[in-house]
Amino acid sequence: MSELSRPLLVLDLDETLWHGVEPADGEVVRVQLRPYLRHFLEQVAHDYDLAVWTAASGDWMRGGLDVLRAETGFDLAGHAVFLWDRERCSWRRGEDGDLSWRKPARKFRAGWLRARYPRGRILAVDDVPGNYACGYGHLVRVTPWTGDASDTELRYLATYLRSLAATDDFRALEKRGWRSRLQLPGS
Ligand SMILES: [Mg+2]
Repeated sequence: MSELSRPLLVLDLDETLWHGVEPADGEVVRVQLRPYLRHFLEQVAHDYDLAVWTAASGDWMRGGLDVLRAETGFDLAGHAVFLWDRERCSWRRGEDGDLSWRKPARKFRAGWLRARYPRGRILAVDDVPGNYACGYGHLVRVTPWTGDASDTELRYLATYLRSLAATDDFRALEKRGWRSRLQLPGS
C-alpha cells in the first residue's frame, strides 16, 4: 500500500463479534465471543485502523469490550479511532413500517474523520444491512452469530478484508456474496 493511507474498518459488535447472554449474579455484561475473534482482530489490525459503531448503549459496549480484552488480550477499545454507541445512531422507520436503529454513513463526513480517511477508504462490518441503508457502499455483511461454536465467518472475513486493503475506493467493489467468491489457500 504505497501511497494509500491506512483504511478504516468500522466494526459492529452484537451478533457480529459477540453475542450477549444472561449475566450471572454480580455481572453487568456477559458476552460470548465469536470463534476466531482474536485471530480476526490481530489480522485486520495489520492493514486497517479500527473503530466501533454499535446500536447498543455505551455501558454495554464498554462492558463487552472489557470482556473481549480480558479473554483475548486484544484491546479493541484502546486501538479504536472512535467508539460510537447508540447516541450516534438514528431511529428511523423502514419500508416495512417498523422503527429501527440506523448508522447514518454521513457521519463519516465529519471533518476530523475525513482528514484521515477518505470515504472510499472506510469499510463497515455489520450483520444487519439495514443499519447502513444510507451507506451500502461501505458495508461488508456478515452472518449474524448467536453462539454456534463451529462458526468460521470471522476467519474467512479476515482473509477477505486483508485482500481488499489496498483498494483505493471500497465503495466501487461488489462486496455482497464475498464469502462464496473468496479464494482460500488449499481450497
Ligand atoms: Mg449487530
